[in-house]
Amino acid sequence: MPTYTAPLKDMQFLLQDVLRVTETGVPGYEDLDASFTSAVLEEAGKVASEVLAPLNAVGDAQGCVLENGVVRTPEGFKAAFEAMKEGGWTALDCDPEYGGQGLPYLMGTAVGEIFVSANMAFNMYQGLTHGAYSAIHAHGTDEQRATYLPKMVSCDWTGTMNLTEPHCGTDLGMLRTKAEPQADGSYKITGQKIFISAGEHDMAENIIHLVLAKAPGGGEGTKGISLFIVPKFMVKEDGSLGDRNAVSVGKIEEKMGIHGNATCVLNYDGATGFLLGELHKGMRAMFTMMNEARLGVGLQGYAVAEAAYQNAVAYAKDRLQGRDVTGAKNPAGAADPLIVHPDIRRSLMDQKSFVEGARALTFWGASLIDRHHRQNDAAADGLVGLLTPVIKGFQTDKGFEMAVQAQQVYGGHGYIEEQGMSQFVRDARIAMIYEGANGVQALDLVGRKLAADGGKHVMAFFDMVKAECKAHDGDARMVPFTEALKAASKQMQAAGMFFMQNGMKNPNAALAGSYDFMHLMGHVCLGLMWTRMAKAAYAALDAGAADTTFYETKITTGRYYMARQLPACATHLARIESGADPVMALAAEAF
Ligand SMILES: Cc1cc2nc3c(=O)[nH]c(=O)nc-3n(C[C@H](O)[C@H](O)[C@H](O)COP(=O)(O)OP(=O)(O)OC[C@H]3O[C@@H](n4cnc5c(N)ncnc54)[C@H](O)[C@@H]3O)c2cc1C
Repeated sequence: MPTYTAPLKDMQFLLQDVLRVTETGVPGYEDLDASFTSAVLEEAGKVASEVLAPLNAVGDAQGCVLENGVVRTPEGFKAAFEAMKEGGWTALDCDPEYGGQGLPYLMGTAVGEIFVSANMAFNMYQGLTHGAYSAIHAHGTDEQRATYLPKMVSCDWTGTMNLTEPHCGTDLGMLRTKAEPQADGSYKITGQKIFISAGEHDMAENIIHLVLAKAPGGGEGTKGISLFIVPKFMVKEDGSLGDRNAVSVGKIEEKMGIHGNATCVLNYDGATGFLLGELHKGMRAMFTMMNEARLGVGLQGYAVAEAAYQNAVAYAKDRLQGRDVTGAKNPAGAADPLIVHPDIRRSLMDQKSFVEGARALTFWGASLIDRHHRQNDAAADGLVGLLTPVIKGFQTDKGFEMAVQAQQVYGGHGYIEEQGMSQFVRDARIAMIYEGANGVQALDLVGRKLAADGGKHVMAFFDMVKAECKAHDGDARMVPFTEALKAASKQMQAAGMFFMQNGMKNPNAALAGSYDFMHLMGHVCLGLMWTRMAKAAYAALDAGAADTTFYETKITTGRYYMARQLPACATHLARIESGADPVMALAAEAF
């Protein structure tokens, strides 16, 4: 069965050497010295390896079961959930006013990666609760915050997000769930939601559903949508639980992966709901949850790939097959280990260079969120808005691809369930679909985010890349990084220019290239991350760091990414510049 060890050294490198958390001057980062961050991550790593990772295969094999309206989670999940609560892991970056520990979002992200790598399906119960917590925290009344947040911070109550209905997932303007105003200010919610993650389970006393529904007078499309808090059990004035609300689970879905997470059909039959945020502005409130969830899903993309990679490396060192063409490396054995073969090396380097680059991008994104929240830094908010579809779309596509590559290292044994590699592939697949399928992330990037605020944020991104390259002028060691990054950034600018020149005349010219643009920008982002990581690694070596192997490995891995992955940008640009015609030429009947 697969094992998992948290990549503590790599995380510490990002926090301390690259992001330099103790020197950034962000309020709330004062305590993040190396010994503190190391202690937190090490403890999280223990929980992940000892408690969560062993339950990953159990969750996959047993799945969740619906019996008499109650969903039973896999064996061991409930005890593990209690252990997470007792350890305070659910409250890490939550507001101290509601029982949280007040650590930065960045620390929550680092710890979150560790837990997701160990057991993605399990971690979703807490992940969705955190998203719902954030939406209530940002948009709730004082009373709503006081009623729900302390219990959600502790995960005594968990949370869900309810957008999808049978006939609409992407196009939420069509949703039919109705909210009828009542004399006491509450609403009666009626309708059916499908695919609701963690929609019902046996690990919490109560479940707080956040539900999108249409209230009278809101008009057509997404503009008429409002967001409602619908508790599974009504909450009395003294905070104790009252009657069961009229929300029930219709069924749980059989699905390809994340079997340990209950994906539910939820029926709302005149359930009591309470408006969250402004009437008819529900999409705005829900986006607080969705943006956070999108970053969380982007994290899932590389976190699952990390776990798969770790096992692929171990297998490649252990499995004897064939001889090194340049001379036997294990002459006493019947064959050499797989890791001697260049094609296995290519695969492992693809995996390693992606995972470490994506981790850097995700941590950087999380640090921008901290800047926005703790310093009201609007530029950081704009930048993270631009990066969100890239982190979600690019990282989950690549994460799945890398999980497949890790499985491939096992040959036929990777396809057999017993080895556990197939689970990584099945689990990673959903991240490309939920929280807005990746095609829609690309539309968001090209259709909205590039032009947002007059293109200010993408221009700031280009300036940042330019400044990063310029900072290394004259440093011969950095040339493999800066030259590749400059070329890729120019290709991204050319793609943006193509959209500007052609998109107004023919919107399809931009939309047909949007997916390629998301990947092009993903590579530029990871190229930027590798440039920053190389700089930090050289700085550590120049300062006489003891662990030279770690830093040298970092630089070599970065060079691989620049040499072997960034050339993909030219292909993406060529596809974008071919415009809409090759894509749209056939009539629908010709398919
Ligand atoms: C396991 C699982 C868990 C989930 N958890 C939740 C949850 O907790 N809460 C929740 O509300 N939902 C949840 N979902 C639903 C998920 O978010 C949706 O499935 C997803 O947003 C896509 O919607 P859809 O399935 O209706 O696909 P559709 O909207 O029908 O889209 C089908 C395809 O068409 C593409 N497409 C759609 N519109 C366009 C367009 N304008 N241009 C180009 N391409 C387009 C999409 O990218 C997609 O590939 C979950 C789904 C699954 C499978």
